[in-house]
Amino acid sequence: MTSSNGHRTPHAGLTIWLTGLSGAGKTTIADRLETELVARGRRVEKLDGDVVRQHLSKGLGFSKEDRDENVRRIGWVAHRLTHHGATVIASVISPYRDIRAEARELIGDFFEIYVKCALDVLVRRDPKGLYAKAFSGEIPNFTGVSDPYEEPLFPELTLETANETVEQSVDRIITRLEEAGLLVEPAATVA
Ligand code: ADP
Repeated sequence: MTSSNGHRTPHAGLTIWLTGLSGAGKTTIADRLETELVARGRRVEKLDGDVVRQHLSKGLGFSKEDRDENVRRIGWVAHRLTHHGATVIASVISPYRDIRAEARELIGDFFEIYVKCALDVLVRRDPKGLYAKAFSGEIPNFTGVSDPYEEPLFPELTLETANETVEQSVDRIITRLEEAGLLVEPAATVA
């Protein structure tokens, strides 16, 4: 967005919100997407669920209340950064529809991506060995196994990571962002 004097307005920021089950590919896609967006001159900040839990949300567990609190904190930080023109990539399971909707409402410039992958594929991938522990009961309240995941009803984009490569997923995101006019080159927006 450009103001009348040609400067970028604070609202030129954007939050790209990746939601989906553990191991679906959120972090992997976020990393690749960051590289693409930085190459296009965007200032990118990643807010990854696993990383946030080591800092901002340290001490929070996996009860519904703690999950909601974790997602709300990420939403709030994303809101502040987006307001200042950053491109935020939030990659967090964020299993509940209503809390994602809260983040969307707070942030405004919100692009929700459902990183979708069938459970049987996730169990075969299991890069962190978490599904094995979830099915054995060693990890309780595991999203998609013993805890709910509410699929987005109207995401801006759905990626089927069992059927597409990381490169294809990132290409699809970039194309959709361009179609939506959300990747205007900074050079074109500064007087
Ligand atoms: P999440 O952040 O959703 O928990 P990760 O990105 O940490 O997931 O892990 C996803 C795993 O699946 C990685 O080991 C990645 O290499 C693998 N993978 C296989 N195919 C894909 C794909 N098409 N998109 C994303 N990740 C994929």
